Amino acid sequence: MSVLSKQKVIVAGAGLGGLSAAECLLQDGHDVQIYEQAPQLGEIGAGIQLSANAMHVLNHIGVGEAVSAISVRPGAYVFRLFDTAEIIQTFSLADDHLALHKAPYNQAHRADFHDLLVERVLDLSPGCIHLNKRATGFVETEDGVTLKFDDESSASGDLLIGADGVKSAIRDQICGPVQAVYTGDAAWRVTVPTSDLPPNFIEEVMSVWMGPGRHAVCYYIRGGEILNFVGAVEADDEPDESWTAKFPWEKFKSDFEGWNEKVQTIIDMVDHDACYRWSMFKRPKLDFWSTSRATILGDAAHATIPYLAQGAAMAIEDGAVLMRALQQRDNLAEALKLYENNRIDRTARVVETSDANKKLFHLNSVQEIRDAFANRNEGDDRNEWLYSYNPLTVELI
Ligand SMILES: Cc1cc2nc3c(=O)[nH]c(=O)nc-3n(C[C@H](O)[C@H](O)[C@H](O)COP(=O)(O)OP(=O)(O)OC[C@H]3O[C@@H](n4cnc5c(N)ncnc54)[C@H](O)[C@@H]3O)c2cc1C
Repeated sequence: MSVLSKQKVIVAGAGLGGLSAAECLLQDGHDVQIYEQAPQLGEIGAGIQLSANAMHVLNHIGVGEAVSAISVRPGAYVFRLFDTAEIIQTFSLADDHLALHKAPYNQAHRADFHDLLVERVLDLSPGCIHLNKRATGFVETEDGVTLKFDDESSASGDLLIGADGVKSAIRDQICGPVQAVYTGDAAWRVTVPTSDLPPNFIEEVMSVWMGPGRHAVCYYIRGGEILNFVGAVEADDEPDESWTAKFPWEKFKSDFEGWNEKVQTIIDMVDHDACYRWSMFKRPKLDFWSTSRATILGDAAHATIPYLAQGAAMAIEDGAVLMRALQQRDNLAEALKLYENNRIDRTARVVETSDANKKLFHLNSVQEIRDAFANRNEGDDRNEWLYSYNPLTVELI
């Protein structure tokens, strides 16, 4: 067994990436402590899609069945026109995704999913999450690494993992400050109780509605109790990279003027006082993201616009590959290199494909949309490189 089998690991950030990585490492016998800036644990009230490439890891850490139990398994991925709802292309999910990739495609409520991860990590190591601990930077020596917090306290270990999201302090120290550039796109995020919608409102599928300069996504979560809606619009007003930025409902409504009646119904039924809009920023691709004892994962390393629904999946994959890299090297610096080398290209491809989907989903005319889809098969393409990746078995090179 590798000499790296029992490391003292410090994780900054108890988001979806930090928790799932911690679970992989705890299961592998490492001692893991997690430090979260927030005074309490939780996630926002919106949906998250978890394809097979992420579900393999969730199965491995023992939460797969529980995640499936709180999810909806959509029948298909459906690309529609914004006004008539005509289906332009579709590929099947549900049983076909499971048969092809040996793990399901799930759509869950983020808070439910986060709760399951918290419960699991505390099962594996009671008391390992420390709240109100905002990491400000770290000091690394040959023998160890010390994470500093804004309350003047610190925590020491063998390995530091920065899972501290888009504004990562750990990334800024490892790679130097990176410039965040507004993409020009902002995402409305709302949910509607299914009971507030007309009966059989829309099939249990993942719908992408495509139109000029914007697109919308909707799918059911929490066993079908809630409909999740994301409306991505090109917006040139003052951007704010925050989940909690509220905007007037009237603005939301006018952003989707002329869109299909189902989109109108969803917007009409949302809580008019809970219309959140997240402005999306881009950060440059990193060519490296580790030192000898510190590394980063998830949005800290490779934040992406959500147009492929893979940001959290990439964070979850990262944790599994990091765990395996520690199994395969007996030197920490080499293990971190192995991890990073096996993640940079894949995560960059996800970022690039998400960017390309902005063009594809926001084309200016119906004819352009038809032409673009005539030459592509989204299902075959994604099945071939994206969903088929298994971070637990892929060869690390
Ligand atoms: C509209 C939208 C839809 C999306 N849909 C999907 C989807 O369907 N599927 C998917 O896979 N991905 C999706 N994503 C992407 C996904 O939400 C992110 O990629 C994912 O949450 C990243 O997880 P993370 O743990 O890396 O970062 P975060 O979730 O941001 O977690 C970071 C954690 O670190 C904490 N933290 C921050 N700074 C510090 C600090 N200095 N010290 C200590 N703690 C700190 C934060 O409080 C937080 O708890 C979507 C994103 C958006 C915007």
